[in-house]
Amino acid sequence: MSKSVEVITDAEWEIMRVIWTQDETTSREIIDVLTDKMEWKPSTIKTLITRLVNKKYVESKKDGKHFIYSPLVSEEEMIEFETKQLFKKTCNTKVGEVLSLIVEEQELSQADIEQLSAILAEKKKKAPKTLECHCLKGQCRCHKEEAQ
Ligand SMILES: [Zn+2]
Repeated sequence: MSKSVEVITDAEWEIMRVIWTQDETTSREIIDVLTDKMEWKPSTIKTLITRLVNKKYVESKKDGKHFIYSPLVSEEEMIEFETKQLFKKTCNTKVGEVLSLIVEEQELSQADIEQLSAILAEKKKKAPKTLECHCLKGQCRCHKEEAQ
Protein backbone atom coordinates (compact mmCIF):
# COMPACT_ATOMS: atom_id res chain seq x y z
CA MET A 1 0.00 0.00 0.00
CA SER A 2 1.68 3.18 -1.13
CA LYS A 3 -0.59 6.09 -0.32
CA SER A 4 -0.69 5.97 3.46
CA VAL A 5 1.20 4.33 6.26
CA GLU A 6 -0.96 5.53 9.11
CA VAL A 7 -1.61 2.89 11.68
CA ILE A 8 -5.18 1.71 11.95
CA THR A 9 -6.58 0.83 15.38
CA ASP A 10 -8.68 -2.26 16.17
CA ALA A 11 -11.73 -0.03 16.62
CA GLU A 12 -11.18 1.62 13.24
CA TRP A 13 -10.75 -1.81 11.67
CA GLU A 14 -14.25 -2.78 12.89
CA ILE A 15 -15.65 0.25 11.06
CA MET A 16 -13.63 -0.55 7.92
CA ARG A 17 -15.10 -4.06 7.79
CA VAL A 18 -18.59 -2.60 7.53
CA ILE A 19 -17.54 -0.10 4.86
CA TRP A 20 -15.74 -2.83 2.86
CA THR A 21 -18.79 -5.05 3.03
CA GLN A 22 -21.31 -2.35 2.07
CA ASP A 23 -19.07 -0.53 -0.44
CA GLU A 24 -21.23 2.57 0.01
CA THR A 25 -22.75 3.16 3.40
CA THR A 26 -24.03 5.77 5.83
CA SER A 27 -23.14 6.32 9.47
CA ARG A 28 -26.66 5.05 10.29
CA GLU A 29 -25.89 1.69 8.66
CA ILE A 30 -22.51 1.43 10.38
CA ILE A 31 -24.14 2.22 13.71
CA ASP A 32 -26.83 -0.45 13.08
CA VAL A 33 -24.19 -3.11 12.41
CA LEU A 34 -21.82 -2.27 15.25
CA THR A 35 -23.86 -0.99 18.18
CA ASP A 36 -24.74 -4.45 19.54
CA LYS A 37 -21.37 -6.08 18.89
CA MET A 38 -19.17 -3.31 20.26
CA GLU A 39 -21.52 -1.58 22.71
CA TRP A 40 -20.37 1.74 21.30
CA LYS A 41 -22.40 4.93 21.41
CA PRO A 42 -23.37 6.40 18.01
CA SER A 43 -21.11 9.38 18.80
CA THR A 44 -18.13 7.02 19.25
CA ILE A 45 -18.80 5.43 15.88
CA LYS A 46 -19.09 8.84 14.23
CA THR A 47 -15.75 9.88 15.74
CA LEU A 48 -14.11 6.72 14.41
CA ILE A 49 -15.54 7.34 10.93
CA THR A 50 -14.18 10.90 10.98
CA ARG A 51 -10.74 9.58 11.91
CA LEU A 52 -10.82 7.15 9.00
CA VAL A 53 -11.81 9.97 6.64
CA ASN A 54 -8.92 12.09 7.99
CA LYS A 55 -6.52 9.19 7.53
CA LYS A 56 -7.75 8.88 3.93
CA TYR A 57 -8.92 5.30 4.33
CA VAL A 58 -12.51 6.37 3.72
CA GLU A 59 -14.08 8.85 1.32
CA SER A 60 -17.12 10.85 2.38
CA LYS A 61 -19.57 12.30 -0.11
CA LYS A 62 -22.50 14.49 0.82
CA ASP A 63 -25.84 13.18 -0.36
CA GLY A 64 -28.60 15.52 0.70
CA LYS A 65 -28.55 15.59 4.49
CA HIS A 66 -26.40 12.48 4.78
CA PHE A 67 -22.85 11.47 4.12
CA ILE A 68 -22.09 8.41 2.03
CA TYR A 69 -18.91 6.59 2.98
CA SER A 70 -16.86 4.38 0.70
CA PRO A 71 -13.46 2.72 1.10
CA LEU A 72 -10.32 4.28 -0.43
CA VAL A 73 -8.24 1.17 0.25
CA SER A 74 -9.32 -2.41 -0.27
CA GLU A 75 -9.53 -5.02 2.45
CA GLU A 76 -6.85 -7.09 0.66
CA GLU A 77 -4.45 -4.12 0.56
CA MET A 78 -4.95 -3.45 4.26
CA ILE A 79 -4.48 -7.07 5.28
CA GLU A 80 -1.31 -7.28 3.20
CA PHE A 81 -0.05 -4.04 4.72
CA GLU A 82 -0.78 -5.15 8.30
CA THR A 83 0.87 -8.53 7.70
CA LYS A 84 4.00 -6.88 6.32
CA GLN A 85 4.05 -4.57 9.34
CA LEU A 86 3.97 -7.59 11.64
CA PHE A 87 6.89 -9.28 9.91
CA LYS A 88 8.90 -6.04 9.83
CA LYS A 89 8.90 -6.26 13.62
CA THR A 90 10.16 -9.82 13.60
CA CYS A 91 13.67 -11.17 13.10
CA ASN A 92 14.10 -13.06 9.80
CA THR A 93 15.06 -16.15 11.71
CA LYS A 94 11.77 -16.13 13.68
CA VAL A 95 9.34 -15.65 10.78
CA GLY A 96 8.93 -19.41 10.30
CA GLU A 97 8.09 -19.83 13.98
CA VAL A 98 5.49 -17.07 13.81
CA LEU A 99 3.93 -18.57 10.68
CA SER A 100 3.82 -22.01 12.29
CA LEU A 101 2.04 -20.54 15.26
CA ILE A 102 -0.50 -18.83 13.01
CA VAL A 103 -1.10 -22.01 10.98
CA GLU A 104 -1.47 -24.06 14.14
CA GLU A 105 -3.94 -21.72 15.80
CA GLN A 106 -6.18 -20.84 12.86
CA GLU A 107 -9.03 -22.89 11.44
CA LEU A 108 -8.24 -23.88 7.85
CA SER A 109 -10.31 -25.56 5.15
CA GLN A 110 -9.07 -28.48 3.04
CA ALA A 111 -8.62 -26.03 0.16
CA ASP A 112 -6.58 -23.66 2.36
CA ILE A 113 -4.32 -26.49 3.44
CA GLU A 114 -3.82 -27.66 -0.15
CA GLN A 115 -2.85 -24.15 -1.19
CA LEU A 116 -0.43 -23.77 1.73
CA SER A 117 1.11 -27.19 1.04
CA ALA A 118 1.65 -26.25 -2.62
CA ILE A 119 3.31 -22.95 -1.66
CA LEU A 120 5.56 -24.70 0.86
CA ALA A 121 6.53 -27.45 -1.58
CA GLU A 122 7.55 -24.77 -4.11
CA LYS A 123 9.47 -22.76 -1.48
CA LYS A 124 11.29 -25.86 -0.23
CA LYS A 125 12.99 -26.21 -3.63
CA LYS A 126 14.87 -22.92 -3.25
CA ALA A 127 14.99 -22.26 0.49
CA PRO A 128 18.41 -21.76 2.11
CA LYS A 129 19.41 -24.08 4.92
CA THR A 130 19.44 -21.24 7.45
CA LEU A 131 18.45 -17.58 7.41
CA GLU A 132 20.55 -14.59 8.32
CA CYS A 133 19.52 -12.09 10.97
CA HIS A 134 19.48 -8.48 9.76
CA CYS A 135 18.36 -6.98 13.05
CA LEU A 136 20.02 -4.13 14.88
CA LYS A 137 22.56 -5.21 17.46
CA GLY A 138 20.90 -5.02 20.86
CA GLN A 139 17.45 -5.66 19.40
CA CYS A 140 17.85 -9.32 18.68
CA ARG A 141 19.16 -12.31 20.59
CA CYS A 142 20.92 -13.58 17.45
CA HIS A 143 23.68 -11.01 18.07
CA LYS A 144 23.78 -11.79 21.76
CA GLU A 145 24.68 -15.39 21.00
CA GLU A 146 27.22 -14.18 18.42
CA ALA A 147 29.07 -12.16 21.03
CA GLN A 148 29.43 -15.02 23.48
ZN1 LIG B 1 17.63 -11.07 14.39
